[in-house]
Amino acid sequence: MSLVLDGAPASEGIVAGKVFLLHWGVPVVPHKTVEPAEVDAEIERFHEAREWAKERIRAVQGVTEERLGQVEARIFEPQLLMLDDPAVVDGAVRYIRENHLTAQRAFEWRMLELQAMWSRTSQPMVLDRLNDLEDLMIRVLHRLLGHHDPSDLAREPSGVIVVARNLTPSLTVHLNPEHVLGVATDQGTRTAHWAILARSLEIPAVVGLGTVSQRAREGQEVILDGRVGRVILDPDDRERAAYKRRRARLKDWEGEIAVIAEQESVTLDGQPVALRANLDLPVEVDQARSHGAMGIGLLRTEFLVVGRNTMPGEEEQYEAYRKVAEAFPEGAVYIRTFDLGGDKFPMFLHMPREENPFLGWRAIRVCLDEPELFRTQLRAILRATAHGDVRIMVPLVNDVDEVRQVRALLEEEEEGLRRDGIPFNSGYKLGVMIETPAAALDAAELVRHCDFFSIGTNDLVQYTLAVDRTNTRLAKLYNPFHPAVVRLLHQVARVSRAAGIEVSLCGELAANPLGTFLLLGLDIMALSMAWPSLPEIKKFVRDIRIEDARRAARSALAAPTSQDVVHCLVEGIGDSVDLTVFAGRWSLSLPQ
Ligand code: PEP
Ligand code: MG
Repeated sequence: MSLVLDGAPASEGIVAGKVFLLHWGVPVVPHKTVEPAEVDAEIERFHEAREWAKERIRAVQGVTEERLGQVEARIFEPQLLMLDDPAVVDGAVRYIRENHLTAQRAFEWRMLELQAMWSRTSQPMVLDRLNDLEDLMIRVLHRLLGHHDPSDLAREPSGVIVVARNLTPSLTVHLNPEHVLGVATDQGTRTAHWAILARSLEIPAVVGLGTVSQRAREGQEVILDGRVGRVILDPDDRERAAYKRRRARLKDWEGEIAVIAEQESVTLDGQPVALRANLDLPVEVDQARSHGAMGIGLLRTEFLVVGRNTMPGEEEQYEAYRKVAEAFPEGAVYIRTFDLGGDKFPMFLHMPREENPFLGWRAIRVCLDEPELFRTQLRAILRATAHGDVRIMVPLVNDVDEVRQVRALLEEEEEGLRRDGIPFNSGYKLGVMIETPAAALDAAELVRHCDFFSIGTNDLVQYTLAVDRTNTRLAKLYNPFHPAVVRLLHQVARVSRAAGIEVSLCGELAANPLGTFLLLGLDIMALSMAWPSLPEIKKFVRDIRIEDARRAARSALAAPTSQDVVHCLVEGIGDSVDLTVFAGRWSLSLPQ
């Protein structure tokens, strides 16, 4: 009997292979003490293991830098810093000196204390630090116990799907895409560092599967679908055949991508549609280009700060932004200012623990309260405007006053750049993300202060419906086709059109064909999405008529329920596109 497990899609691709169980766990450490005369030697042994671990991590960092670039390699810095942190080192040494514990027991105790302290938070980014801490425990303890390093994946067989409780960035970077076909984990989220790395390495991954590491057996046959977030253990003939069909379709599709990337993005009846990519890491620019992105509709700049111990300097930021701008000499690049808080926390900022972080100190609110952080970023982006059509986009804006404050800061920074003789393009555009009902309803005011709007439906939906976007239990209620959302989208589009500014949309909804149809029908002609979705959305755009989309959007605006909205869209698309191709991926409940 096969076993189907559903989790969350973290990295695209459909693969089949054999289970490779990765036991990356904290070893059992026996309670032992040493003789007083052995204390110094034990402390020495602890320092040796610490130095060894640093070397291993630096080696991993080197591989990461080679494969993914400098920015990604920095995610190991917190681990290196932790190994020198007096809170860790002095604490463990004290246990050896005062309690005569063995080095392994002393280190374990100290790390468990820190773990208990940090576990009291529920903030995902602090929880990510806990992953780093566990990573160090595993590495150092195995060393002190004289075991092999379990992260040594060099002898890993080919054609495997790695199944683990969770991964870490350092393990992920060791995964050789030629051997490892995919990754399935019990825990983790799409935004965990290792999942971001898996996407950059193009290793399909499914996270949050609950118990896959307990249910899977070594060598067992497994199918992993990183598009829908599903894993099938011991698939039966029917499932194998379905997998082969999906895989074949995907292969054909991969062949088509290059062709589609070159085609014009225009509807059957001649309406041009701007399709741009969302980037989480600058290293993704090449894939964005090869998938036909006309520009970058959203550069999430948090990669520069999350998990870092120090604030990123102006020069480093400028280089990162410039790299993206130069990759798109003919397209616009929308750089979003730091969207911290919510579920993203840098280590260098003291972020208070909040009851409702998504309703708390987040995005522009943090930036305006932390002028040093914000001004440095604004200067770096301004400098990048000299290298392309770089636009500045501000997240989670609620009212005009926030835009005024940003503009005032920008004017001061511009003045500074002029004074220092540093080039920038003074004609750059400044716009806001429409992510709250307040911003959508107040669009007519905001529009007078903005050069563009970009609608962030990932947040707009959660704030409109009061449904936490990260809460799996509420996933069914998180419905972007709710009539209230449709009306807000319509309102923002109408205001933008009247004012003659560009309105684009960069939430996940843009990559959902029903969403695309609705948005085009509402006159939102610029869409930005994760790069893997670009070709299929372009193909979809080329198969539909804007007139049909407009008619369907008009009906959708009058529809009383989400189901009716979906019905109007499906009817409007009619036979132009086979929607069943998308159904599994988007959980589209298509009328029979
Ligand atoms: C959004 O909210 O739709 C968006 C694109 O921003 P993020 O997903 O980064 O919050
Ligand atoms: Mg958002």
